[in-house]
Amino acid sequence: YDVHSDGGALVVNAEEAARVRAIFEMYLERGSLLPVVSEVNRRGWTLKRWTSREGKMVGGKPFTRPRLHLLLTNVIYTGQVRHRGEIFPGEHEAIVDRETWEKVLAQLKANAPGNTRSLRNKHGALLKGTVRCATCNVGMVHTYTQKDARLYRYYVCVKAHQRGWTQCSTRSVSAPELEQAVVDQIRGVGRNPMMLTAVMKHLEESGFGDVPREDVARALREFDGLWRQLSPREQEQLIKALVETVSYDGQTGMVTVSFRSAGIKQLCLLQEA
Ligand SMILES: [Zn+2]
Repeated sequence: YDVHSDGGALVVNAEEAARVRAIFEMYLERGSLLPVVSEVNRRGWTLKRWTSREGKMVGGKPFTRPRLHLLLTNVIYTGQVRHRGEIFPGEHEAIVDRETWEKVLAQLKANAPGNTRSLRNKHGALLKGTVRCATCNVGMVHTYTQKDARLYRYYVCVKAHQRGWTQCSTRSVSAPELEQAVVDQIRGVGRNPMMLTAVMKHLEESGFGDVPREDVARALREFDGLWRQLSPREQEQLIKALVETVSYDGQTGMVTVSFRSAGIKQLCLLQEA
């Protein structure tokens, strides 16, 4: 919207309106906020830019998850206004129809952290398909056992699983412990200069040398804050974007995480303030 030159009234800005509609559609299609933030940034779309009364250009910041959330929940796009916590019909034209708006709100609610219906997969395997047994160089599959009404989740070496426990010294690992170790390691890279150098080298080798070291360090150090805001489904998507493989060695207990360069760049963009 632009403010009409006569004062007060909002008039639809066609280019902005098309982007806003595309963002609402994209969210319904992708199902969660993070992929939309990445896509919007990839297209180079920023928050609205305008000229202030003093003639300065303001706005135009990159999209982040909280900013996208604000956009999707802003009643102004439905032609309404919020005043002292209540919603009233506005005098301006709607950009987003009521049906789309309500679908988006319902989806945001379903994806909110703590909503059990949004569990990432049946038993919450965060690293499904990414764990490898360091001893046998084969995948580790997610499995579980139930004891006294409690669920115990594991990642089991495929070789040990198929050919017997004697075939592998790594065998299996507690899934919640391994998942926690991976999250700790992502956060730890930002504080460990040696690990950070290794990640930077990897970024450079895969053509992402333009990402500043300081941004990578900060994005990884502040990983916790972002992580806690995410729904389980978004956590799984973020891990998939960031981590290529997790290799586990049962004899030494060593967890080796190999990162995806594109995912690290994406994380930097997501956390840009
Ligand atoms: Zn094995």
